[in-house]
Amino acid sequence: MDTKYIFLTGGVVSSVGKGVTAAAIGRLLKERGFEVSIQKLDPYINVDPGTMSPYQHGEVYVLDDGAETDLDLGHYERFVDISLNRVCNVTTGQVYAEVISKERRGDYLGGTIQVIPHITNEIKRRIRMVPKTTGAEIVLVEVGGTVGDIEGLPFLEALRQMRGDVGHENSLYIHLTWVPRIGATGELKTKPTQHSVRELRSIGISPDMIIARSDYPMDQELCDKIALFCDVEPRAVVPMVTAELLYEIPLLIEKTQVGDILLKRLGLAPRKKPNWRAWEKLVMEMHREKPKAKIALVGKYVELHDAYMSVREATRHAALSLGIEDEIMWIHSSDLEKGRGVELLQEADGIIVPGGFGERGIEGKIRAARYARENNIPYLGLCLGMQVMVIEFTRHILETDEVNSTEFDPATPHPVIDLMPDQRDLTDMGGTMRLGLYPCQLKAGSRAAEAYKSDSVNERHRHRFEFKNSYRDVLQEAGMQFSGLSPDERLVEIAEMENHPFMLGTQFHPEFLSRPTRPHPLFVGFVKAVKKNVSR
Ligand code: GLN
Repeated sequence: MDTKYIFLTGGVVSSVGKGVTAAAIGRLLKERGFEVSIQKLDPYINVDPGTMSPYQHGEVYVLDDGAETDLDLGHYERFVDISLNRVCNVTTGQVYAEVISKERRGDYLGGTIQVIPHITNEIKRRIRMVPKTTGAEIVLVEVGGTVGDIEGLPFLEALRQMRGDVGHENSLYIHLTWVPRIGATGELKTKPTQHSVRELRSIGISPDMIIARSDYPMDQELCDKIALFCDVEPRAVVPMVTAELLYEIPLLIEKTQVGDILLKRLGLAPRKKPNWRAWEKLVMEMHREKPKAKIALVGKYVELHDAYMSVREATRHAALSLGIEDEIMWIHSSDLEKGRGVELLQEADGIIVPGGFGERGIEGKIRAARYARENNIPYLGLCLGMQVMVIEFTRHILETDEVNSTEFDPATPHPVIDLMPDQRDLTDMGGTMRLGLYPCQLKAGSRAAEAYKSDSVNERHRHRFEFKNSYRDVLQEAGMQFSGLSPDERLVEIAEMENHPFMLGTQFHPEFLSRPTRPHPLFVGFVKAVKKNVSR
């Protein structure tokens, strides 16, 4: 069959769940027996979000191939249960970098390089790379931002051209809007949706479907009005009220006519009956009253929960699988550093120190690791969280606070965490870390091997610094086990404490491989230990 393309644009305001909607629609199509991939087009000029502050952008999501991507790709992978690759996140920066380097090479043979056709062609080439590299039969393409953004124009123009290139029967446009409610009268307003569709049509795109998001239920009359003014079949205006739980969204969309309309319009018949049993069980479990576990998440961007999206989700997946509710206590590492918030740690049944960069708050994270070690509180350290756990223990063994990572104290006499040799001479910051999937061998009998039930695993990485091997013996003797190593045994990938209920740190990011119905083994191991505290 021809590759089918579904293009998803947003109108009125951003941050109303376009990424999750794309992910949920992806799942709907997969449930009907199709190979699906999802691509995000991000109109900003950064080449990737890897160099952006999490305050700007939320978490940086890492793929198997090491691409540093938008956090929406995390939703796509989790909802559809697929692995995406680097062509699945395109930015204006990448597009221009490619076109300009071709121009410098002389590839355009003296031509004048313009937004149309050169930039739009490059965007279209990248869209078509998705089915080529993933084998997807249906490609969903989500455009970041909202219609009317200046920087989004070349992307929308490329999408408009795609219909001519691939044909009406192989392309479909969904526009997602927001229907606000006016306080004084309590009335829901369709005008912003009308304006946004008008804007989209002025670019040459007529939506085939409108998904109208709102915090309040919308009646048929309202949908009919949107249909009339926006020139869309009434059936193809789909109201979507804000869901209580993220994971309910695929089930809610399944109940609508979306799946039917999309397939019919693309000339496809479902290959199998959707089977939502596992998802339904998951959502039911989420609604069930469960014993609560308090898990402290100690980070430096905790005001913005999106900065820890995958950690949050992976913890939830594990907790659900064990029948408990994880109540995250967001603790600012700078507060702990200043001695505030220690009472919160005392309340915690478990502590997570997630990934991070830079010195701010680092002493607070070390304090959290010390608290976990001394008080036998289950601890999971992710990347920086593992480094912190190692620094803390080395300080304890060597009896000096001068132990550090050279990231935070370049002159430390005890650099137990140090720059990887191949990182020393790098001058570029973007895309130059140790990134993506690497194998890790597990030590038989360790907590890690027990959790994974395997002797080797592959996990996603994003770091520059690593454990310094000259400290291995002294720490091992003192009770720290290096239970995960690279196959050549040069890199420590997992460290764990002996004689502790659960204190384990990974140099990689297990949170990126956790799926709602397939929780990650290390998170499960951690939450199991946490659960013992809850029922204590
Ligand atoms: N800053 C640390 C490093 O670069 C940890 C990175 C991380 O937590 N992702 O090694």
